Amino acid sequence: MIEQQIKSAVRDIPDFPKPGIVFKDITTILKDPALCEGIIDAFIEKLKGIRIDAVAGVESRGFLFGLTLATRLGVPFVPVRKAGKLPYSIKQKAYELEYGTATIEMHTDAFEPGQHILLHDDLLATGGTVTAASDLIQEMGGVVSGFSFVVGLGFLKGKERIAPISNNIIVLAE
Ligand code: 5GP
Repeated sequence: MIEQQIKSAVRDIPDFPKPGIVFKDITTILKDPALCEGIIDAFIEKLKGIRIDAVAGVESRGFLFGLTLATRLGVPFVPVRKAGKLPYSIKQKAYELEYGTATIEMHTDAFEPGQHILLHDDLLATGGTVTAASDLIQEMGGVVSGFSFVVGLGFLKGKERIAPISNNIIVLAE
């Protein structure tokens, strides 16, 4: 089962990036090409029936599977980046972090108004990042047709937070 394979591959790093946090290190997944292929296959299977005109991946670990997923679906990949990284004209969204704020940006021509966008990231924690990315997509005239994550931290209730945006929430391992 893919869920078990992901859980066995992910490495827990205590006290990273700060004391008290147990960070889920997914670089150990990337060392296993068969598992990476299995992850993409599982996403493709679970996304069947959902309209996806483009896949938006959140910097930086959302790029890892996001581009492959988009390519397999035969749709464009859209990078959602941290402030100051994208070279063309951008639209941005600031959002609250535990301490302070962060800003994400997308190119203004990333997709066409009315297109349905799948939001992808490696991990769903509180859902704050993808909520901000959803707001940005919607402000640019897009429709968020669903979410895909390799790992979810169920105890942080991210699914509950993003469910009002779209009920198509795929988390391969929780
Ligand atoms: P959220 O906004 O849902 O609280 O946090 C999710 C974002 O933070 C994602 O972009 C994810 O990459 C990153 N993140 C937070 N905690 C972890 C973690 O334990 N492991 C990994 N790989 N990413 C994390």
